[in-house]
Amino acid sequence: MSSIADNIGSVTRRIQKATLNAGREPGSVRLLAVSKTRPASDLKTAIEAGQTAFGENYLQEALDKMAALEGAEGIEWHFIGPIQSNKTRQIAEAFDWVHSVDRLKIASRLNEQRPTGMRPLDICLQVNINNEDSKSGCAVEDLEQLAAAIEGLPNLRLRGLMAIPDPDQPEADLRLSFRKLAKALASLRQALPAAGPLDTLSMGMSGDLEPAIAEGATWVRVGSALFGARAPKHSES
Ligand SMILES: *Cc1c(COP(=O)(O)O)cnc(C)c1O
Repeated sequence: MSSIADNIGSVTRRIQKATLNAGREPGSVRLLAVSKTRPASDLKTAIEAGQTAFGENYLQEALDKMAALEGAEGIEWHFIGPIQSNKTRQIAEAFDWVHSVDRLKIASRLNEQRPTGMRPLDICLQVNINNEDSKSGCAVEDLEQLAAAIEGLPNLRLRGLMAIPDPDQPEADLRLSFRKLAKALASLRQALPAAGPLDTLSMGMSGDLEPAIAEGATWVRVGSALFGARAPKHSES
């Protein structure tokens, strides 16, 4: 067995254990394999081990891998990186989910550019949960207005919220950040019950998936625990 397959097994067991410990339904947390900077051959190995959902941060790199893996059945592609408006068309054409929508301009473009004949694009709103200057994401206070504006867009399906909490905070604060995102989703559901399924919390990564699951994560986005440590990132073209 390859080490990627071993890692998928051990991360899956971590997810199962955390789900059980939280008293949540088995299978209610899905594993998104974050494959940025990894070659298509690593994804192929993961696919052979049963992984179906992949998260990518860089558009061109993702498109290259999609082309290389063409013919792989049942793969779901999730865009999870910052979005420049000149990239929305290709994202709308090639991806199943986008976790990193943080402003109306991007949502409107994805809605307009989603090809007719494809099912609506599943999206999450990215929230800057710790109000970090350096982070993309919508402020919690602005979520309701953004979701209300997205409610009328027919080619998008608003699934929920995504956040990348500040990893340098103490563990107790990290857990509170996950809880804050879960509360923001609950308020949104109450304020805008028809805005979309609002059934998704995309939170938790290699180092903190347990507290995220304890607070209600439905997608955990895991990179290094599956594929190993990443080399420093090149700049995006
Ligand atoms: C890279 C990345 C991850 C995965 O991080 P790991 O610590 O390697 O698990 C998750 N989410 C986003 C948005 C990322 O960019």
